[in-house]
Amino acid sequence: MRKKLFGKEWIFEKFLPGEPQTGLEGFAVKKTLYAKRSQYQMVEIVDTEGFDRMLFLDNLVQLSTKHEAVYHEMLVHPAMLSCLAPKKVLILGGGDGGALREVLKHSVTEVFLVDIDKDVIEASKKYLPSVSQHAFNDPRARVIVADGLKFISQHKEYFDCIIFDLSDPDNEVSSRMFERRFFEKAKRVLKQDGVFSAQTGYLTEDFGKKARMELQKSFPFFVVRRAYVGSFREGEQTFSLGSKKVNLAAISLATIRKRFERAKLATTYYSPEIHAASTVLPRYLMENI
Ligand code: SAM
Repeated sequence: MRKKLFGKEWIFEKFLPGEPQTGLEGFAVKKTLYAKRSQYQMVEIVDTEGFDRMLFLDNLVQLSTKHEAVYHEMLVHPAMLSCLAPKKVLILGGGDGGALREVLKHSVTEVFLVDIDKDVIEASKKYLPSVSQHAFNDPRARVIVADGLKFISQHKEYFDCIIFDLSDPDNEVSSRMFERRFFEKAKRVLKQDGVFSAQTGYLTEDFGKKARMELQKSFPFFVVRRAYVGSFREGEQTFSLGSKKVNLAAISLATIRKRFERAKLATTYYSPEIHAASTVLPRYLMENI
């Protein structure tokens, strides 16, 4: 929703799906670079004051170029470094290219990115070049425009890492991706010693709590990580990791440090110390994540 206030144009994020309608976040618009209703959603890319360039889908904030590194590094590196030698990776969603950029920093051989909306991919390539940083042109990247639900049913125990970079469940297409039966499908395409990572909303958000609960039931090994992403104004963002065989909580800081150094990762937020600290949860959530 756009409004003129205090002599400026503002873009307001809509109420979060399923949450109490008690507060709104607004961003002062400098310039709208792209606004198109695609086959699936309203796609907007806007230059803002203070948050730099932002991507909105159906009026929900997806990223700001100022803060996206925190989100993408936390979504990708804890999973990749919890895996012994990840070579084949699947990203579901992630049409802006940020998760792809981070995955390609590792010595992978094949990365599938499956996003349902070609307009998000094309607009991001053009207007958010700092996010993908040419990752779409990397010969290891295989970009597929398809419904993740369909794609995932075609493989079995193939991927070392699976990254869910999907929009919050706001419509029929994205809602299905956070259901238990979909997590079970993801588990099928993950290798026994593979690691799964998903964005699972804010710490306190209802959809996130449900998704984390279902993931915990699906994977024998499970951890939740958190980070504050400046453009996500409702609080800390969660990232949920699962595995069939890798005891994620038992990997030592020394092991993560060794793998981080071996991979020569250039990061702006993530570090082995952040890896360790990000699983520490506030007391009231320790029993009920
Ligand atoms: N950082 C974001 C967040 O916190 O919500 C996620 C960003 S990424 C742009 C989300 C992507 O998921 C979108 O490009 C959207 O098209 C894609 N998506 C939604 N449902 C999908 C589905 N069923 N299959 C594949 N991609 C899907």
